[in-house]
Amino acid sequence: MKFCFPQETAPGETRVAVTPASAKRLVKLGLEVAVECGAGGASGYADGDYEAAGAHVMADRGELFRTADALVRVRHTPAGELDLLREGAVHVSFLDPFNEKELLARMAARKLSVISMEMIPRTTRAQKMDALTSQANLGGYVAVMLGANRLKKVLPMMSTAAGTLLAGKVFIIGVGVAGLQAIATARRLGARVEAFDTRPVTAEQVRSLGAKFVEIDLGGETGQTDQGYAKDLTPEQLARQREGMKALCAGSDLVVTTAQVFGRPAPRLLTADMVAAMKPGSVIVDMAVETGGNVEGSVAGETVEVGGATIVGERNLPGRVAHHASQVYAMNICGLLEEFWDKETKKLNLNPDDEIIAGCLLAADGQVRDARFR
Ligand code: NAD
Repeated sequence: MKFCFPQETAPGETRVAVTPASAKRLVKLGLEVAVECGAGGASGYADGDYEAAGAHVMADRGELFRTADALVRVRHTPAGELDLLREGAVHVSFLDPFNEKELLARMAARKLSVISMEMIPRTTRAQKMDALTSQANLGGYVAVMLGANRLKKVLPMMSTAAGTLLAGKVFIIGVGVAGLQAIATARRLGARVEAFDTRPVTAEQVRSLGAKFVEIDLGGETGQTDQGYAKDLTPEQLARQREGMKALCAGSDLVVTTAQVFGRPAPRLLTADMVAAMKPGSVIVDMAVETGGNVEGSVAGETVEVGGATIVGERNLPGRVAHHASQVYAMNICGLLEEFWDKETKKLNLNPDDEIIAGCLLAADGQVRDARFR
């Protein structure tokens, strides 16, 4: 089977789904690997290194698509290029399936077997293929670095002959994978860090990183789904949460919001009046900006000034550290392909009875398999 890795074409996408190291592993396993010429350029991987790893570097993008038994990439193929793929090919990428139902239907009509990296179950067995985690982790790091870079202050306390500079106050809202890395990064920079999440299990994780967990009584049950995702709050609970966070936001130098409810628009956690009450020079990084935003006034892809505060709404934060983001994404892809590669038939075995394939194979045999995405 020929596995083809194209150059990403989505605006601002700097990552790539294969690195020379991952190509080497796949070739050793018996896969034929082809990489589009220049695909690793934006993330710092050279064509010559892919060739040295045993991959073919192909200059003709059309040929790469037409000859692919499997097309493996970071972002999904745009509708205009789908017809280049042959019927029955496998397509592996992030898919944004809740928002891309029409595209998924087209892919199914094209008889592609479509794997969505977002839908890989969050189980121990699937950990090595969990690209949501590998990317969110780096996103959390980047969010704090971007925020710190915008501050007019330093984060660590400094006692100098010219006086003492107080440690910066950082508030992290949402303590999933990104939030935990944001806490750890802000702590490494010496900030005083507080954090909040609606899932009570996160309190201990926050404390173990040397940060303070903020207690807010939301009234009624919160908790998480069996996949570990947050449950949606009621409007009353959200109002209580905002009330409970008001003073904290006003006293913080940097607020990083990472709150998401899987498959739903992000909850609105900071209203315009909460932003207006923040200190001059304070910074908010809205990591949920691409799913609707946690912060009123944040703009996807932009950094805006609102009153005295700066709201950073940059997209694709992992793409800011594309070398490492590609390295871990490529290893997630390796983990997936190795798990389902049948050495005897030399084919991918996408058996829907397997719980991982059941979760992430969204289309096959001309059908969209999961009713949620039809
Ligand atoms: P996510 O990106 O879906 O959400 C980010 C965080 O926002 C979550 O912690 C969520 O609880 C929080 N949130 C939602 N609404 C909120 C609100 N109103 N206020 C404050 N916070 C709010 O989450 P994720 O990082 O993808 O992680 C989801 C779950 O999956 C976590 O429980 C994580 O531990 C688990 N997980 C498990 C594995 C594994 O076992 N293999 C791997 C990765 C993640």
